[in-house]
Amino acid sequence: MKLSLGSFLYEIVFNEKCPICNKKSYWKVSPFCEICWSSIKPLNLNLFIKEDFSNEFWKYVDSLSCFAAYDGILKEAINIFKYQKIKRIGKLLGKLLVDISPKELDILVPVPLHPKKLKTREFNQSAILAKEISNSLRIPLSLTILKKIKDNPPQVSLKASERKLNVKDVYSVSKDIKNLKIGLVDDVITTGATLAECAKVLKRAGAKEVHAITVAKTV
Ligand SMILES: [Zn+2]
Repeated sequence: MKLSLGSFLYEIVFNEKCPICNKKSYWKVSPFCEICWSSIKPLNLNLFIKEDFSNEFWKYVDSLSCFAAYDGILKEAINIFKYQKIKRIGKLLGKLLVDISPKELDILVPVPLHPKKLKTREFNQSAILAKEISNSLRIPLSLTILKKIKDNPPQVSLKASERKLNVKDVYSVSKDIKNLKIGLVDDVITTGATLAECAKVLKRAGAKEVHAITVAKTV
């Protein structure tokens, strides 16, 4: 079948099916369709997150802002972003964080990947999220303050009880951050072990406050 230029372009722009409802998707939010994407709504998780994390977590993390539960379309979107490497979806997810982020931050720091992992994944998903907050709220972003110095097994592969030990001594701070209020950005929070460890390292290096910001929280 010969396509006209118009229908050829239409096929290019609308060639994907939404993984949620199977209808044709629109390029801006593809592979999702606009209806499914706009169904992503913030949930006020602050009501119950305090007791979901240990006292040690709250010793280093001054506040935690999560957009919604790691479920449904949001979970699908995070996975497509991370594992199918669709950066466009990551930018849209990052935009969701703008409204929930504390506004009085001095700097944004993404949870880093080990350089080896960064090479295979091609990008740090947390850095893409943090960049959107940085652009919208005009808060500087640093990709070099916090470094991952040990290539540990992924937290997803471990039981909750093993996660704290797995992240011990894997992060280091390379710059002067004395008295800074830091926004620490990650995609998903589960036990909080990674964020607590990063916050601990930042606080020990002199950070005044560490505010964790994530797209989702596992439920
Ligand atoms: Zn859809």
